[in-house]
Amino acid sequence: MDDPILVVNCGSSSLKIALFTRQEQRLGSLLAENLNTPEACIRLSGEPSSLNLPEPGSHEQALTMAIDLFRQRGLIRKAPLAVGHRVVHGGETFKEPSLIDDQVLVAIRACSALAPLHNPVNLIGIEAAQRLFPGIPQVAVFDTAFHQSLPAHAFHYALPQRFYRDWGVRRYGFHGTSHQFMADQTANVLGKPVSDLSLISAHLGNGCSITAIRNGKSVDTSMGLTPLEGLVMGTRSGDVDPGLFDFLSEKGMDAGEINRILNRESGLLGLSGQSNDMRTLCRMAEEGHQEAALAIDVFCFRLARYIGAMMASLTSLDALVFTGGIGENSAKVRARTLTHLTLLGFELSRENNEGNGKNSNHHIEAPASRFPVLVIPTNEELVIARAAIAHGLERIG
Ligand code: ADP
Repeated sequence: MDDPILVVNCGSSSLKIALFTRQEQRLGSLLAENLNTPEACIRLSGEPSSLNLPEPGSHEQALTMAIDLFRQRGLIRKAPLAVGHRVVHGGETFKEPSLIDDQVLVAIRACSALAPLHNPVNLIGIEAAQRLFPGIPQVAVFDTAFHQSLPAHAFHYALPQRFYRDWGVRRYGFHGTSHQFMADQTANVLGKPVSDLSLISAHLGNGCSITAIRNGKSVDTSMGLTPLEGLVMGTRSGDVDPGLFDFLSEKGMDAGEINRILNRESGLLGLSGQSNDMRTLCRMAEEGHQEAALAIDVFCFRLARYIGAMMASLTSLDALVFTGGIGENSAKVRARTLTHLTLLGFELSRENNEGNGKNSNHHIEAPASRFPVLVIPTNEELVIARAAIAHGLERIG
């Protein structure tokens, strides 16, 4: 048995790790949380209890313990064959995954100006893995890379050009690995080459974004310079009137506070005043909670507007595809969204929608629908594992 491929997703206080065989079979996964606090702990998926990490509970300790746990369970013998890392921002430098060397590290660090909360943490994961597995190929996979095909008319903001020239202010888009996976999976479901495929991919999790894909390439997407733009999300506002900043600063708020509120206290949480969790809000709405119902309505209406907007980038549509925790599981959100779009000819089969497409080969549209509508589970970790194989193993033999 070959040793497996390790997939690392490093957040500021968390570390998600998955193991895949070269044949893309998932062997196991693990989550470390509350890192760099006295509550730092680690838990293998499928196991009931978590283990405490010794102080200081760093990312490197978590990675070391993860490998020990995988070894104890016979999932890995010595070291991984290759490591794939999720990196949030690749700027305009990275248009595809990259085998990490010193130059790549410098370039990822340079992109930190665009993602100060994310890239430095991703680098901590990369450097810890390099120390633990010297000589093992490590590959960076960027959330932004899939959207580097956006045409100029889709990525430019109508701002003074010097903002773009001097500071790189433009729309980058995120969730690229998930949207790319949707293109590949939809191609399989529809039996069509991905290079001929046009679709609209809606990734609805805690973060939400929607992408228009034409001939297999991203041509428009709802997230922008940062992941704040676009759809209503768990705690992010999505689009607001930029005039709001002046209005709130007149009320005495500074940029940091406004940014925090728009990122952490808005979206479903802000509207409902209760929760950022769609499942909770659906339950509360059914019990008659009006603000929970309003939050769901605003979420679905904004999503419908964006589905309509994505049509401007396409000349044909093979499918509208839903994914992410909400997209994969909430028949209510999908149905509520598409009731706004009857003019475009979307119609759902009630039974297949409520079954989340599981017994209908992912299809949830009614026979009379103008376009297929699919539900496809995302698997960003598998995309990263594939990239680690393609860019880490196959290119170096
Ligand atoms: P992340 O972006 O953190 O990976 P997920 O993709 O797991 O998040 O999505 C989390 C969201 O999915 C939460 O809002 C959760 O309530 C929602 N969700 C999961 N299952 C359901 C369900 N059955 N009905 C409605 N929402 C659901």
